[in-house]
Parts: sequence; C-alpha cells; structure tokens
Amino acid sequence: MQRALIVSIHDVAPATQERVDLIVRRLTDLHVPVSSLLVVPDYHRQGGSLDDLAFCQWLEKLQTVGHEIVLHGFHHERARRPNETSRDKFITRFYTADEGEFYDLSYDVARTLLDAARHEFLEHGFQACGFVAPAWLLGGEAERAVIDAGFTYTTTLRKVRDFVARQEYSSQSLVYSVRSSWRRGVSLGWNRYLFSRLRNNDLLRLSLHPPDLSYPDVWRQIACLIADAMADRTPMTYQAWLTHAAFTDTDEIANERRGAEIS
Ligand SMILES: [Zn+2]
Repeated sequence: MQRALIVSIHDVAPATQERVDLIVRRLTDLHVPVSSLLVVPDYHRQGGSLDDLAFCQWLEKLQTVGHEIVLHGFHHERARRPNETSRDKFITRFYTADEGEFYDLSYDVARTLLDAARHEFLEHGFQACGFVAPAWLLGGEAERAVIDAGFTYTTTLRKVRDFVARQEYSSQSLVYSVRSSWRRGVSLGWNRYLFSRLRNNDLLRLSLHPPDLSYPDVWRQIACLIADAMADRTPMTYQAWLTHAAFTDTDEIANERRGAEIS
C-alpha cells in the first residue's frame, strides 16, 4: 500500500474559520493540498454553522479542491452529569475540557443529532461519510447510531475503523494539547517520539486543532514533521485512503486466491 499522510483539522466552524483557513494555507505551502475537515454543526451552541453563508461558501471551495468534509459531533460539548464516576470525570474533564459530547449519549439522542446533521449537510451539498466524535470519545450506543445513520467510518486516537469493510487499521494519531505550557511541553516530546515510532507505519495521521497555530514552537515542530513525512508519503483524506485500502485489500485477496490456484 502507498505510504500516506492524513492531516485532519478538528473543530471547523464559523468561530474557527479564520484560523482554519490559515492552517489550510500553511499546509498548502508544505505541499499538503488536501485534508479532512472535521466540521461541527452547532459549535458550543453558537448557532448553525451552515446557516452562515460565508462559512458555507468557504467550505464548498475547499471541498471542490479535494478537502473532505467530516461530521464532528453536533454541539461539541457535554453537560456534566450527577453521579459521575472518577473515571468519567477524568476522561471528560481532565483529558478533554467537557467536550466529549458522544462519550455516553443514548442511541436515540445520538441518532436524532446524527440524522439532523446529515440531512442539513446534504441540503447544503456536503456529503460527509465519516463521523469523528469530539475528543474521539464515542460510546457503544452512539457508535451503533453512527453506523445506522449511514456513516461509513470513524476514527479514534489509535485507530481508523471502516464500518463497510469491517476493518480496523491501527495508527495512533499525532495530536497536540496546547491548553497549558506543561501540556505543550509534554506534547512536543511525545509527538517527536511517536513520529519516529510510526516511521514504518503505512499510514501516518496528524490531527490539528485551531489553537495549534498560536504557539510558534508547536507549529515549528508540525511543519518539520510534515516536511519529513512528505519525503516518502502522499497526502490524502481519510475517504481517499479508505477507498485505496479497500482496493488494496481486494488485490491482496485476489493474489492470495491466485497463489492458491497455482499451488
Ligand atoms: Zn473536536
């Protein structure tokens, strides 16, 4: 399989449009012309993203030149609940700042949000076939709803899950936490280590967030790692990579069959 680099940009909404646009331009300068854009339908309940005409037109242009539109939660926030266990608190408050919206949604609530988002995206000409939960926290019931709503894949921190081919691909994403200076320090060390550990992996994933651009040392490392990866990887979207992976799988199966017939 061709060695690939998938860059995804999380939390795309009118509130982050300016910053995401800058990231897209910087990526283009680094010879990464396409990315998977994780769009939030109503980011932090600030209003429907696709009701913003300028945002829609901007997104449409990006889709036209090959960027992929992916659904990323609905409100991107999770209300705290009474009687949460310490594990729930750790995951939803420390690991992510109350943004794990699909962490413990019931099937029905998740399905209603997913159907509404899918319908709205289609109405505006955006065909999102992937769904990525905020903070990659996707509970079991919510995952069933994602599959039943017709999404064909999801990603987690460590995996890409193809619902159609029923395949799971291991590849831990590089991702930065920039909320505080100690988190940034840990992130820089960790991502450099992870990058070298993943050197032989066919798929390299880099997940960016709008605030990443505000920290020069973080962006410097991102640019370095991309330049390094681009020496022998092709940039693509998740959708393109999965299509490619499915073909490769079919080829491999056909070759195995052929081998079996010959022997
Ligand atoms: Zn997010």
